[in-house]
Amino acid sequence: MRFILSVTAAIFAAGAAAAQPVSDSTRALHAEAVAAAAVDEAREAAEDAAARRGLLATLPDGQVRNAEGRILWDWTPYAFLREETAPLSVHPRLWRQARRNANHGLFEVVPGAIWQVRGYDIAVMTIIRGERGWIIVDPLTTEEAARASLALVNRTLGERPVTAVLYSHSHADHFGGVGGVIDRAAVARGEVRIVAPHGFEREAVSENVLAGGAMNRRALYMFGSFLAPGADSQVDTGLGPRIAGGTIGFIAPTETVGPEGGLRTIDGVEFDFLDAANTEAPAEFLFYLPRWRALHTTEVATKTLHNLLTLRGAQIRDALVWSRVIDTAMQRWGGEAEVALASHGWPTFGRETVGTYLAGQRDIYRFIHDRALGAANGGATPHELPAILEAMSLGIDPSARGYYGTINHNAKAVYQRYFGWWDGVPANYDPLPPEEAARGYVALAGGPDRLLEAGLAAHRAGNHRWAAELLNHLVFADSSNAAARAALADAYEQIGFQAESGAWRNYYLAAAATLRGREGEQAPRSQSADFVSAISTQDLFDALATRLVPAAPVTEPRFFRFVFSDTGEVVTVERRGMIEIPRIGPNDGPVTAEVRTSRMAFAGLLGGRVQAGQLIAAGQLTLSGDILALQQWLAEHRSPDPAFNVVVP
Ligand SMILES: [Zn+2]
Repeated sequence: MRFILSVTAAIFAAGAAAAQPVSDSTRALHAEAVAAAAVDEAREAAEDAAARRGLLATLPDGQVRNAEGRILWDWTPYAFLREETAPLSVHPRLWRQARRNANHGLFEVVPGAIWQVRGYDIAVMTIIRGERGWIIVDPLTTEEAARASLALVNRTLGERPVTAVLYSHSHADHFGGVGGVIDRAAVARGEVRIVAPHGFEREAVSENVLAGGAMNRRALYMFGSFLAPGADSQVDTGLGPRIAGGTIGFIAPTETVGPEGGLRTIDGVEFDFLDAANTEAPAEFLFYLPRWRALHTTEVATKTLHNLLTLRGAQIRDALVWSRVIDTAMQRWGGEAEVALASHGWPTFGRETVGTYLAGQRDIYRFIHDRALGAANGGATPHELPAILEAMSLGIDPSARGYYGTINHNAKAVYQRYFGWWDGVPANYDPLPPEEAARGYVALAGGPDRLLEAGLAAHRAGNHRWAAELLNHLVFADSSNAAARAALADAYEQIGFQAESGAWRNYYLAAAATLRGREGEQAPRSQSADFVSAISTQDLFDALATRLVPAAPVTEPRFFRFVFSDTGEVVTVERRGMIEIPRIGPNDGPVTAEVRTSRMAFAGLLGGRVQAGQLIAAGQLTLSGDILALQQWLAEHRSPDPAFNVVVP
């Protein structure tokens, strides 16, 4: 999974949405899915068994608490997942996947050598026995989750020091918890190696700084962060149960593995690395452990189809490179690997099953890429692609089904990667903005009551997608229309119930909750100071420049200089026209006003954690030059609303 640094450490904040009865079309679709899944039953049963295999110990009550005793993770409210048969409100395949992801605890993967802690975060932490201590691969999203997981390891297997940490890729759910398994001082003393793929640091910290606001907002929908656990609410993400709460931190790697990959010995264990940059993450590697014939497929191959373009928004991933990397891994180790394990989900055991699994994962990305591009080259447009590809999607390996990513949205992503968002139809290039178009549709329909009736009729007929399209116009024409909101919520809810993808389900059910006025509160997010200080100064000022809300063009350019005592950096921001241009480095040009402080204090100022007056009083900030101009410039910057509307205008 790839998500933003400011992901909310939310636990189950909202009450369950008022679910409506399951529609006939939802029932019919689920019955069809059960019948279709029956052909894969042997393989599905093997996955069920693999997800349970090797359990050694669990955290008491399945709970993770922080230092103050607050519960950050809790399996208790998920007791409903014990039912083997899916309720009508959950796609049967997603239900089975959720039950696999609900196996939690410390699991033995290779006796005496490799273990995993699963089920206390969306991600998985792998533990390898080194000569002197534990080698930890992917220390989860938060420090609290990682600390509890390591404690479980030490309690069960015997206390050993952590000698190395591997970050398999640049997404926060695989490094944010590092502070829970090692401390910075031990790294500084050279007692712990931290190994990461090339490009890791830049990607991990900076890639979502500029677009983080909107990604974070949409991520709450995609991960169902404000939905309560429940059979008519949040059940799973498809990739793992949900995201851990707590503190996301950062410690920089001490070494990186280059594009050439290759052999490296870490605490007496030989690793063979394969570069996987620009697959699921821009910085990523796979590795093979020859001694145990174990292949770590990171997030390039997990027990689901993944995302080429995630619902929270991101830059589009390359399906072709993705498929090629899996093929390379198969060519290199496929004939001998006895076990495949990953950064999410459970392992695959047995040489033959590993081969089938890897082939299925490789083939699905190749299928989506080639069939989508082939159809697009024949004139198919984004919203025509899903049906074309779904009709051809026969014989897909069960592990590559759309529990998380879907053929539907990945086909559109391939189109977008090559052609952009526009389908080539002139009417769609510059349509009216949503609210204006919505008012037009309402008028055309003969008024709100007529459009509502049409939407409700479509809903009753089981055409929930058409109902959603009609009713969405009604809500966008007048978001105070309570009947329209309720009807749209009901349509979204059925679409959510029908979804095989946990991400789709969460998004539609969270949308329904919003329309019903039940969007829960978000638990306070928490990033460690380490994380903030790791953001590059260029990114910091570029992000600041996106917050400029200019009232009028500046005709006479102004220059604001920042001198940072802790990093020794000098930044000059040229404010001109309706923009500003930050430049890093010495500059003898004109200066309107100058600020001398530390970069850490300045970041605190931007983050709203401290006020300028406090810093001045504490002697941590001095100003010179045209102070009034500086104040005016600061006042021109505004933080966007982090809780902006998503499903209503
Ligand atoms: Zn992940």
